[in-house]
Amino acid sequence: MSLLVVGSIALDTIETPTGKVENALGGSSTYISIASSYFQDEVHLIGVVGEDFPQEHINLLKNHNIDISGLEIVKGGKTFRWGGKYHTDMNQRDTLFTELGVFERFDPKIPEKERKDEFVVLGNIHPALQNHVLSQLDSPELIVCDTMNLWIETAYDELLEVIKKVDVLIINDSEARLITKENNLIKSAKMIMEMGPKHLIIKKGEHGALLFGEDKIFAAAAYPLESISDPTGAGDTFAGGFTGYLSRSGDLSFDNMKRAVVYGSAVASFCVQEYSTKKIENLTKDEIQKRFKEFHEITRFDDAGF
Ligand code: AMP
Repeated sequence: MSLLVVGSIALDTIETPTGKVENALGGSSTYISIASSYFQDEVHLIGVVGEDFPQEHINLLKNHNIDISGLEIVKGGKTFRWGGKYHTDMNQRDTLFTELGVFERFDPKIPEKERKDEFVVLGNIHPALQNHVLSQLDSPELIVCDTMNLWIETAYDELLEVIKKVDVLIINDSEARLITKENNLIKSAKMIMEMGPKHLIIKKGEHGALLFGEDKIFAAAAYPLESISDPTGAGDTFAGGFTGYLSRSGDLSFDNMKRAVVYGSAVASFCVQEYSTKKIENLTKDEIQKRFKEFHEITRFDDAGF
């Protein structure tokens, strides 16, 4: 099974309470494709960068066996740049700047071969672009979609069009509340499921994630980490691990989705341990499997009656 990833590719300047990096590798599809590459040998990345995009980043993607033939490098253009600053409570961040560069004219064209990919992750980009991607695809088995507060606030109707067509929507708790104007997450989840998706994942940062299916809920814990360097891309990394695992097994049952949520949480827990993509660049399958087992251990309990 092959996996198509479409989203942003960026150079990020990130400030957290413990440090700062400038022009580091970022972007939704970068995190998604690196994370999914640990599970899936056939990852096809569609994106756009400028001529200033460092060769070392291209090499990194290639070393992860990610097919970048759909990566457009615009001559003389500048890569999308994003700057963000985290508060002491790292669940809160401010966007300091957004320099769109070549991203402003991003017109994702899906090559003939990739239109047949069975699994698709729509990373965070304008919903109109996500819709445009969907209109070019044959009939994928599973479409997973991420978004952000900016689009909920500025492109709500276009976002609803996308949500109607996707199989799994991945958002965080504040985005769920923003979409539905409903504070209770369970009610909010029900309202979103009525909008179209068969499954919904609501991430709650350091408090884990909830998976909703038809009449079913699974609550996944977050990995207990003592220190976090940089939360940027954790959600995208989650989406990459989740879909990478599902596409490898091809099993779309709710039980397998539960495992996929934990694999997604496992790779995301590595992501936040270092800045940018630094930690997830050099993982091994054994490390991911070990962390998956730790998740199992910290949440397992037996029913011994009382
Ligand atoms: P996350 O922490 O999961 O929200 O993802 C952070 C990544 O999203 C960063 O690497 C940014 O480059 C990228 N990003 C920030 N704003 C946007 C935007 N408006 N469109 C697409 N990608 C963005």
